[in-house]
Amino acid sequence: MSRHVVVIGGGPAGTAAAESALRAGATVTLIDSNEALGGQYNRRIPAAYEVRRPLSIGHGYAAAERSARLLSEHPRCEYLSWATVYQIERHLDGGCPAVRLLLGVEGDPRTHRVIQGDALVLATGAYDRVCPFPGWDLPGVYTAGAAQTLAKTQRVLVGRSVLLSGTGPFLLPVAQSLAAGGADVAAVLEANPGRRIARHWTTRPWQLRHSAGKAAELLEYITCGVRHRIPLRTGRAIVAVAGDGRVEEATVARLDENWTPIPGSHTTVPVDAVAVSHGFTPQHELAVAAGAQLRADGFVLVDGTQRTTAESVWAAGELTGIGGSQVSAVEGAVAGLAAAGADPTMDRALRARHRTAEQFVARLAAAHPIRPGVLTWSQPETVICRCEGTSRGELASVWAHATGDGYRSAKLATRAGLGPCQGRICAANIEALRVREHADGAVDAQDRACPGSACETLHDQQYPAGAVERSATPGLAAATPAWRPLAAPVRLRELADLDSEGQP
Ligand SMILES: Cc1cc2nc3c(=O)[nH]c(=O)nc-3n(C[C@H](O)[C@H](O)[C@H](O)COP(=O)(O)OP(=O)(O)OC[C@H]3O[C@@H](n4cnc5c(N)ncnc54)[C@H](O)[C@@H]3O)c2cc1C
Repeated sequence: MSRHVVVIGGGPAGTAAAESALRAGATVTLIDSNEALGGQYNRRIPAAYEVRRPLSIGHGYAAAERSARLLSEHPRCEYLSWATVYQIERHLDGGCPAVRLLLGVEGDPRTHRVIQGDALVLATGAYDRVCPFPGWDLPGVYTAGAAQTLAKTQRVLVGRSVLLSGTGPFLLPVAQSLAAGGADVAAVLEANPGRRIARHWTTRPWQLRHSAGKAAELLEYITCGVRHRIPLRTGRAIVAVAGDGRVEEATVARLDENWTPIPGSHTTVPVDAVAVSHGFTPQHELAVAAGAQLRADGFVLVDGTQRTTAESVWAAGELTGIGGSQVSAVEGAVAGLAAAGADPTMDRALRARHRTAEQFVARLAAAHPIRPGVLTWSQPETVICRCEGTSRGELASVWAHATGDGYRSAKLATRAGLGPCQGRICAANIEALRVREHADGAVDAQDRACPGSACETLHDQQYPAGAVERSATPGLAAATPAWRPLAAPVRLRELADLDSEGQP
């Protein structure tokens, strides 16, 4: 009998995993919380908008559409859209964990379903990361991902005059979408120095041979930048924004290699919005619930077949490291084959693409790290946890007096990380600040980073050398691996629909 592979996530990684598992003869259930397949990279314009050419909004949409059609029509594939997995249930006697999900649009009546497969592929992607600076909680400050999603799929501009800041090539498509929509993009500021970026992108060029598509995409973004006269400046960043009730101006500083602002280099730029991206944080709630170990930087630890340390669980895409859509798709293809019981290393071409994908991830992390000087940007009064309004000063005063677990103390004393986002936005920043406060080495970062028994597995983890190399920024990228009984918001009424055994 064919294996039943359950894939969570319908982005480039998840759809590639589903396709390759089908090719290997498996039966597949593909679960995605969006209306349509595509994930973040190929996020669609909502069908209700009835636009004439919905696939012309960006790269790869035609291929994503072919893949979506194949998956929704394949006789061995069940595709569930508007399906949110809120819980992963491990069995006492081992085996593949069960998946609990709610089917339907949030806010409307939804129905429960529990799915038990033979293998699970997690491809849930990542969240935008922004490191705090004075004024980052003002209206008019957006993550680059939010600005991109609004511009691409809703045709909404975050402002008329926008400054982009952060690190990584993702800033370029965002600039393109904003400029194409009619915004005046004041500049794209890349915080890392140009020589660092050039050094890492030009060494061992043969390793980029599978990235020809990305090179063409890059050329298009550069051409767009030239056409719209968008300056690209390296070694600079927005370090503060100000305005009366909303963004009116951004303060830009030149940075040293460490991202510490150079005294006397500050200038102000009048804008009505800024879009910021300091990399991404893995969306690892389901992976933690499945019992998969994480690396020091919070990404899911996988082996050469994308297998996690949890029994019968594989992971792929930005959940395991940041590399963009093509890398995610290659990792998904490997994970799907392995989860279906095939040996992905037998496919020589795929093995080569997987190896170069891994190299691409390492190159991206080396060229565009987040550097510790970013922690000097916020001031004692800067809000760090926006849900609960907790400032850096409040956190520091807790840490000055805390004994035992500093992260937990900060949570209990200030409520930081306990609001609606449940630490998804702030936890990595709180942890980075806490580690900095204890930079004298008196505190073992790993011990403190992991409050609660749910994270005990991390403590004994021996990270293989390759995995550690993929860590973007030791000490800065470390997120707090939060185990939550519910990985997505669920109404109490919906839980009340379950019987006493927890069955629908
Ligand atoms: C907001 C945002 C916008 C981005 N836009 C672009 C862009 O325009 N261009 C670009 O080059 N890169 C973009 N990126 C980077 C992009 O995420 C990756 O390059 C690529 O999409 C990663 O593929 P993936 O399959 O790993 O994850 P994703 O594409 O993020 O796919 C993950 C999928 O999992 C689903 N999911 C997550 N949790 C659950 C759950 N509990 N239950 C059910 N489904 C779940 C999500 O709905 C999503 O469809 C963006 C990133 C973000 C955060």
